[in-house]
Amino acid sequence: MAISALQLYKSLPRTNCGECGIPTCLAFATQVVVEGLALTLCPYLSTEAREFTEIIAAQQEQGVGRKRDNLAIALKFLQEKVDPLDFAALAEGLGATYGEENGRTYLQLPYYGRQFLVFKDEVRYPEGALENPWDAILLYNYIASQGQRPPCGQWVKFQGLPNSVSKTKTLIRLQEHLAQALSGKTGLLDRKARELGGEPVTVAQDADLQFLFHPLPRLPLLLVFHDAEPEENFAAEAHFLFDDQVMDYLDLESLLFVVERLMDQLLEKYE
Ligand code: SF4
Repeated sequence: MAISALQLYKSLPRTNCGECGIPTCLAFATQVVVEGLALTLCPYLSTEAREFTEIIAAQQEQGVGRKRDNLAIALKFLQEKVDPLDFAALAEGLGATYGEENGRTYLQLPYYGRQFLVFKDEVRYPEGALENPWDAILLYNYIASQGQRPPCGQWVKFQGLPNSVSKTKTLIRLQEHLAQALSGKTGLLDRKARELGGEPVTVAQDADLQFLFHPLPRLPLLLVFHDAEPEENFAAEAHFLFDDQVMDYLDLESLLFVVERLMDQLLEKYE
């Protein structure tokens, strides 16, 4: 059995604490599997991740470039899944713009405010964006969903989504990490959220800050932030809310990735 970067990533705490010397768990998993970084650099390995230690060490010894292989396989699989789809017919439902280039069809998708062209066999990144196969996988997953029902405007917590029990802990850890990192820094959060295209809204009555993001056109994501109140002994809290129909567009794993992506950007240069 070979361990992929994706499998390892799923077994990590995903708190992006940075104690391993790498800013995010995602980057850490990738570097372990591809570059041969020591798994034990993460002090918070779960039992499942520990069980991978020997297998990964063997992989590293064989010098197998697992990341590229595995991500390439995942991408290929998704590209094959979207290949028979009619992009022109799907565009509106996905909030995308349909286009053609030399006989090749593509969907243009704003992803965190930047325009990506998704062909059936290639993702074209906007100028200046770093190529990241995880982003490409997310975009293909979104298209493969063929989601047609628009968001319904009803907000639910992650734990309110079907079959989310086993993954809820991960989201809670992410929220806690964000709250801790931004405690007492509402001004910074406000500025950073607006820079990322976040729109101030009022959904929860008592929150200090609330921002609506659109990582993808049919994927609203609400961040509700309560700052710490030391006199009252209240720690800061951050909560992500999802549209009740979000699972028409992405699976739970992909949603966690979307949240992490947003957090990476919000915390960039903060920590
Ligand atoms: S939880 Fe582990 S892998 Fe993730 S950032 Fe922290 S030390 Fe690194």
